[in-house]
Amino acid sequence: MAYDLVIIGSGPGGYSAAVRAGQYGFKTLLVEKSPRLGGTCLLVGCIPTKALLQTAEVWDYFKHPEEQGIACKDPQLNYPKVLDRKNSIVSKHSKGVEFLMKKNKVEVVKGYARLLGGGKVQVDTDQGQQTYESRFIMLATGSEARMLPGLQADANQILTNIEILNLTSVPRSLGIIGAGAVGVEFASIFNRFGSKVTVLEMLPRMVPVEDEDVSKELDRYFRKTGIRVETGAKAENIRKNSNSVSLTATLANGKKEDLEFDKLLVAVGRKPNTDNVGLQATAIQLDRGFVKVDAFQRTGEPNVYAIGDIVAGTPQLAHVATMEGLVAVAHMAGKPARPVNRNRIPGCTYTEPGIGSVGLTEAQAKAQGYRVKVGKFPFAGNSKATILGMHEGFVKVIADEKFGEILGVHIIGPHAYELVAEAVTAMEAEATVESMMSTIHAHPTLSEAVGEGFNAVNGLAINA
Ligand SMILES: Cc1cc2nc3c(=O)[nH]c(=O)nc-3n(C[C@H](O)[C@H](O)[C@H](O)COP(=O)(O)OP(=O)(O)OC[C@H]3O[C@@H](n4cnc5c(N)ncnc54)[C@H](O)[C@@H]3O)c2cc1C
Repeated sequence: MAYDLVIIGSGPGGYSAAVRAGQYGFKTLLVEKSPRLGGTCLLVGCIPTKALLQTAEVWDYFKHPEEQGIACKDPQLNYPKVLDRKNSIVSKHSKGVEFLMKKNKVEVVKGYARLLGGGKVQVDTDQGQQTYESRFIMLATGSEARMLPGLQADANQILTNIEILNLTSVPRSLGIIGAGAVGVEFASIFNRFGSKVTVLEMLPRMVPVEDEDVSKELDRYFRKTGIRVETGAKAENIRKNSNSVSLTATLANGKKEDLEFDKLLVAVGRKPNTDNVGLQATAIQLDRGFVKVDAFQRTGEPNVYAIGDIVAGTPQLAHVATMEGLVAVAHMAGKPARPVNRNRIPGCTYTEPGIGSVGLTEAQAKAQGYRVKVGKFPFAGNSKATILGMHEGFVKVIADEKFGEILGVHIIGPHAYELVAEAVTAMEAEATVESMMSTIHAHPTLSEAVGEGFNAVNGLAINA
């Protein structure tokens, strides 16, 4: 049977592209190997982690109610119920994706897909093997957790993002290898739920893709709230005991220390799912396992596009996968398609305090030869942050000295991941520091801190 478009993978990239293809009137087939639609993001990534983070935040308030003038004796955390809530949010949205496929007349096949070349896709389903022909094919197969050599994840001791989301109780102690977004988010969740958390990171700082000041602030806050942070540390000789995991850490000062945890989360990056999907039958080119694409997401194989976590050169984020999918479908349909601007991608980390950033870091801007002006405004000077009781962090604006061009905005603090949207819009609209200084922010809001960040570039912040 011939289709206009066959999409392999129903993550945020694949399912959003399927909806858009349906809206454009494409005869579209979506192939998914998992029983449920939604991919990593919905089933074992963005959504379940943020559901847990929300409960962790509420729980934090219950632990210190007296600060708000509330007496609340002996609050209890019912962790199985916390998991039920998380699972029902995931189920609701996975059903929502099924609904969207029906609404947009996208056919769905549950099975494992491989490219055969020449516009053909072979799918293994429970009912047998089927081959589909299509004018266009989109690879959106996503990624999976990398494991350290010689280790294998299990349900009990050595965990990836999948197993940790299904623990039936809060571990007394949790070791985390890797301080990228996934590692620090789980650190923030389980620290607030009461685990003794240790983060081991080989690089000199946590969240290494962020501006250095942001890493420092997160480091300071993590330590202040009882998380042990060891950067520049290497974990070796990891071994499973009957009910715990041991390892030897070589710390930044060269000393070796034996550590033991109830559970160990390995969060050392995500491997693109490009093995075993038939790429050898095509002219698709890889860069260390990631698919090389052009600005419109085209691979080296005619009419085969790739999007999302498998793509070389763009960050592995759900909103990047979605936008790449929409760009690809627009291009197939001959509609105006604006390539993804890699310098306008918000990066969000949902820790406490949260992180939201866009554009160049101070170091990157300097390395690119800009003469930069930096404005920094602390949330300590923002009244809404004080009302929320969340006054850690700051807004940091990096601007070009000459014309006030906004080069980057880096926020760490309350709801930073929401606040960064204004900075993304400002940069997309090519606003300058001057125009942002005369943009009115409602009072009392956290967004005023963003306005003050722009004021601070010219040394004109009011509340600092
Ligand atoms: C713990 C965690 C938290 C995260 N939190 C965030 C966040 O808050 N915000 C954010 O932006 N990003 C977050 N991410 C990253 C985000 O999940 C990914 O960037 C996003 O899911 C990528 O989307 P995708 O469509 O490329 O692939 P995926 O979501 O990985 O989906 C790929 C789909 O393809 C299917 N598939 C693979 N191979 C085949 C095949 N051969 N045949 C059929 N089907 C196949 C898979 O089963 C899967 O359903 C998080 C990731 C993790 C692990």
